[in-house]
Amino acid sequence: MSTATCDFCDGAIVPTESTPGYAQHEGGKRACFACCAWLDIIRMREGKPIALYVDGPLVSNWTGTLIMMVLSRKDGRHNMAGKRSTYRFRGPDGSVWSGVEYHGPCSGNLLRSVRRLASKKESTRLVD
Ligand SMILES: [Zn+2]
Repeated sequence: MSTATCDFCDGAIVPTESTPGYAQHEGGKRACFACCAWLDIIRMREGKPIALYVDGPLVSNWTGTLIMMVLSRKDGRHNMAGKRSTYRFRGPDGSVWSGVEYHGPCSGNLLRSVRRLASKKESTRLVD
């Protein structure tokens, strides 16, 4: 049996019990889970939409290979979901980011409206 390899690092792709062991990216390229972290960092730096998930004090990408610390959480009400939580967390670029979790049966811990907060000029300079 031939071993599949990552199209980004040439490392072996190792399936897990519940996943094929890779994510499919633009152009059909396969990325191992380690490369998913780097690709997600690049997405965040470029300001592209990204799927992040919150679990207790941590925010992560779907593969769990990019992990960021929650700095604060503010709960509020939402007319459809009943409750929403706005998180601030430290992104891989050192900036403060925010994302909103809408609670309810279909939440899946997904953060929506993920964006970098332009709170510090210094951190913006480091990124750009
Ligand atoms: Zn890889």
